[in-house]
Amino acid sequence: MTKSLQTPVFGRLALIGIGLIGSSIARVARARNLAGHIAIYSRSAETIARAGELQLGDSYSTDPAEAARDADCIIICVPVGASTQIARAIAPHLKPGAIVSDVGSVKRAVIEQIQPHLPDNVHFIPAHPVAGTEKSGPDAGFETLFDNRWCILTPLPETDQQAIETLSRFWSACGANMEQMDADHHDLVLAITSHLPHLIAYNIVGTANDLETVTQSEVMKYSAGGFRDFTRLAASDPTMWRDVCLHNKDALLEMLARFSEDLSALQRAIRWSKGDELFDLFTHTRGIRRAIIDAGQEVDLPDFGRQAGKPGSDEKRDALK
Ligand code: NAP
Repeated sequence: MTKSLQTPVFGRLALIGIGLIGSSIARVARARNLAGHIAIYSRSAETIARAGELQLGDSYSTDPAEAARDADCIIICVPVGASTQIARAIAPHLKPGAIVSDVGSVKRAVIEQIQPHLPDNVHFIPAHPVAGTEKSGPDAGFETLFDNRWCILTPLPETDQQAIETLSRFWSACGANMEQMDADHHDLVLAITSHLPHLIAYNIVGTANDLETVTQSEVMKYSAGGFRDFTRLAASDPTMWRDVCLHNKDALLEMLARFSEDLSALQRAIRWSKGDELFDLFTHTRGIRRAIIDAGQEVDLPDFGRQAGKPGSDEKRDALK
C-alpha cells in the first residue's frame, strides 16, 4: 500500500535516532513526500555516516540539538532509557509550536522522562508504532514497515487536538492504522502482546543453550521443530529489550506472574494426564492465531511464509554453499 500526499505534512522533520525505526520513517517520509527536509541525528559518527551513504535525509548531525533546531516535528527514535538525555539536549532549541513525539515501546516511563524537560510552547505526543523486526541499525529499515500496522498515540489530557490530528495524518500517510489510549493501558497491553513473548523467547533459547544432555548441534539441527521460531524474537536488540524490561517493570512482572500460574496449570494437566484440558486449550489458542490472520496482522502461509528448504530457494542454495 503506498499513500502519497500532494504537500508534505511537515516542512522540517527531525529524526533523533536512525536505527530500524528511524530509518524506516525516513524512507517512507521521503518516498511519500511527507517532509520538506529530513534532519537526522545519530549518536555515533559511524551510524550517521552510514545514514548519509544511504541518503536517508537532507542533513546529518551527531548533535541532537542541531537536528531538532527549527524542526516542525521531532520524533525521538532511540532506546527508551536514553529519552531523558535526548529531551534535555533538544529542549532549549525547539521551535514554538513544534510537535515532539517518540516511538518508544513503553509509554509511561517515556512520558516521565521527556515531559518535564520540554517548554510549554511545544506539543508533546507520545507514540508507538507497533511494527518491527529483530534487526537494528539504519540498514535494517524499509519503506513499508508501518503498512497496515497499528500506531498507538498516548496523548496527555491537555494535548492540543490539532497537533494530534497532524501527527495522526503523518502516521496514516506512513501506512499505519491509528489508535489512541492511556499510557498505562498501553504498557499493560504491550506487556502481554510483545514484552512477555520476547522474554519467553529469550528464556527458552537460553534454556536450550544450557542443556547438557542435548548437544548444541542437535538444537541447531532439529530447530525446525519449533525452537527456531523463538530464536527470531530472541535475536532482538539487547539494548532495546533491556530498556523495555527496566521501564515497564510493573506490567511485565504482573504478566510474568500470571504466565507462571498458567504454566503451573499446564504442568499439572500433563502430570495427571488430563488430555481433555490440554486439547481444549490447544484448540482455543489455534482460534486466536486464526483471528490474528483474519485481522491482517499475519500471513496465512505454510511454515509461517518461510521458503527455507524448498527446492531452488535462496536459503536452501545458501545452506548448500
Ligand atoms: P536501533 O535500530 O538500535 O537504533 C537506535 C538508534 O538510537 C541509533 O541511531 C543509535 O545511535 C541511537 N542510540 C542508541 N543508544 C543511544 C543513546 N544512549 N543515546 C543516544 N542515541 C542512542 O533501535 P530501533 O529498533 O530503531 O528502536 C528505537 C526505538 O524504537 C526504541 O525506543 C524501541 O523501543 C522502539 N521500537 C522498536 C521496535 C523494534 O521492533 N525494533 C518497534 C517499535 C518501537 P548509534 O547507532 O549512532 O549508536
